Amino acid sequence: MAGSNQGIPHYRVIIIGAGFAGLGMAIRLRQAGETDFVVFEKESGVGGTWWVNSYPGCACDVESHLYAFSFAPNPDWRRLFAPAREIRDYLQRCAERFGVMPHVRLNTGIRRMDWDDSAGLWHLLDAGGARYTANVVVAGMGALSVPHYPDIPGLERFRGRVFHSQQWDHEHVLDNRRVAVIGTGASAVQFVPRIRPKVRHLDLYQRTPPWIVPRPDRAVSHRERRRLRRFPGLQLAWRWGLYWLLEARVLAFARYPGLMRLLQRSAERHLREQVPDPRLRRALTPDYLFGCKRILLSDDFYPAVTAENVDLITAGIREVREDAIVTLDGIERPADTIILGTGFRAADPVPTGMIFGRHGVDLGEHWADGPQAYKGTTIAGFPNLFMLMGPNTGLGHSSVVLMIESQIAYVMDALRRMHRGGIGAVDVKPDVQQAWNRWLQRRLQGTVWNVGGCRSWYLHPVSGRNVTLWPGFTWQFRLRTRRFDLGAYGTRPVDADTSATVGRVAVPGKEW
Ligand code: NAP
Repeated sequence: MAGSNQGIPHYRVIIIGAGFAGLGMAIRLRQAGETDFVVFEKESGVGGTWWVNSYPGCACDVESHLYAFSFAPNPDWRRLFAPAREIRDYLQRCAERFGVMPHVRLNTGIRRMDWDDSAGLWHLLDAGGARYTANVVVAGMGALSVPHYPDIPGLERFRGRVFHSQQWDHEHVLDNRRVAVIGTGASAVQFVPRIRPKVRHLDLYQRTPPWIVPRPDRAVSHRERRRLRRFPGLQLAWRWGLYWLLEARVLAFARYPGLMRLLQRSAERHLREQVPDPRLRRALTPDYLFGCKRILLSDDFYPAVTAENVDLITAGIREVREDAIVTLDGIERPADTIILGTGFRAADPVPTGMIFGRHGVDLGEHWADGPQAYKGTTIAGFPNLFMLMGPNTGLGHSSVVLMIESQIAYVMDALRRMHRGGIGAVDVKPDVQQAWNRWLQRRLQGTVWNVGGCRSWYLHPVSGRNVTLWPGFTWQFRLRTRRFDLGAYGTRPVDADTSATVGRVAVPGKEW
C-alpha cells in the first residue's frame, strides 16, 4: 500500500480476480519488484474458474502441458487433461511459490469502481462497503464467470431443486432422483456421464447438438512424470509440440473454413461408432459446420445418452411447472431436480452499474451492443483500466493462458513506460480503438464462427458481432502486445504533489 487518502487504502495497482489472469499478473508484478498491489478475489480461495466450477467431471479440454503458465511448467500433471481440482492446486502452488498470497484478499468482491478524472484515480467499493483507490486497475474477472440463467417461463415456480452447473449443489443428493438437465454444451457433456449412473431418470433437453470428437486423455505415468522432472527440456519440447499442433488448426478455423468439412469426419465417425440407433444419431447430429460452436471432447457423453435411464429431448421447452417440464409438443415430464448447463454471459461480461469511466459512463451500458476494446485490453474513456481476457481474446483452438500471458506482458510494459516517462494515466484514443475493431471484424468475416451456420455465444445477441474470439494465431496476438504502444494513447503526467500521499497520480484537471 503506497498510502492512504483520508483513511482510504491506496494501491498502485489493484487486480480483480485470482484466476489464471489475476494471479499471472500478480506474479509478474512481484517478479518485477513491485509490492504496491493487491488482488481482490470474491471467492474464498484462489483459482478463478477452477475454484468456482466444481461440478462432477469438471476438467480442462486443453492439454495441461499447454494449459499452464510458461514460467511455471508442471511436470506433475497426472492426466493429459487435468481435472479442475488439479488445476486449482497448481494455481494455489504458483501463488505461494511466487509470493503473491500475502497480496491476495479473499472473500472481497468488487461491487463498483469509478474513475475520478480530477484526481486521476480509480475509486473502488467492495461488497462489504469498504473503499479503496488505485492508480491502475487490472480486471481479471474471467470471460466466462457470469452464469447464463435461461428465461424459461415458470422456472421460478419449480418446487424442486434448481441449480446452475457453475454453482453445483453438492449437498443435494442425486441418487434416485428424476433429473432434468438443460443444455448440451461443454459443461453438460462432462457432468451428464458422471451423474447418469446415480439418478433414477435423466431427461436431457438439447436445443442444439454439439460436434463431439474423441478425448485423447490418459494418465501420465509415474515414470513419465519422473522423466519430465529430471529433463525440463523434455517438457518444453512437449509444450512446443502441442502448441504448434493446435496452432495449425487456425488455418481451418480462421482462414479456410472449408477444411472443417474434412475435420468434421472424425466427429461423424465418433457419433456413428458410439450411437448405433439411427434416430438418436440424427437427433445428435449438428446441422452447422464443425467448429462454428466450440468443439467438444468426450468419450463418455454419447454412451451416457444411449443409456436406458436417459431420454434425449429435442422439442423446445414451453414452460416449467411446479414439478415438471412441458415441451412445445405439449408433453409434460416430471422432474424433482433441474440442472442448468446453460453456459455463461460471455458476450456481456461486465454487468451494468459496476464500472464507470470518464464522465460517469457505465461500461455495461457503453457495451450494450457488444463489448469492444483495443487489443482486447484497454477501452477508450476508461483510463488506467486493463482488462485481461477482454473482448476478442478468446480462442477456439488453443490455450487461453497464451493470450493471458501476452496481455500481462503488455500491461507490464505499460506500467514500466508510465513509471519511466512520468505518466500518470493513459487512455486509448477512440479512433485507434475503432480502427482496431474494424480490422478485427474484417478478419472475422470469413471465419467458421461467422460463416459456419450456427448461433453461438461467440456472437453478441444484439449486434451479431463476434465479440469474443481472436481471429488468428496466438503468436500474432503476442507480437501485437509485445510492447506497449504509447502512441495509441492519450496521456497525462504524474502530479508530484499528490503522489506523496496517494502514489503516482495524474495532475488534476490536465487535458488528455
Ligand atoms: P455452453 O457451451 O454455452 O452451453 C450451453 C448450453 O445450454 C447449450 O447447449 C445451449 O444451447 C443451452 N441453452 C442455453 N440457453 C438455453 C435455453 N434457454 N433453453 C435451452 N437450452 C439452452 O455452456 P457451457 O457448457 O457451460 O460451456 C461454456 C464454455 O465454458 C465452453 O464453451 C468453454 O469455453 C468453457 N468450458 C470449458 C470447459 C473445459 O473443459 N475447459 C468445460 C466447461 C466449459 P444452444 O447451443 O442452442 O445455445
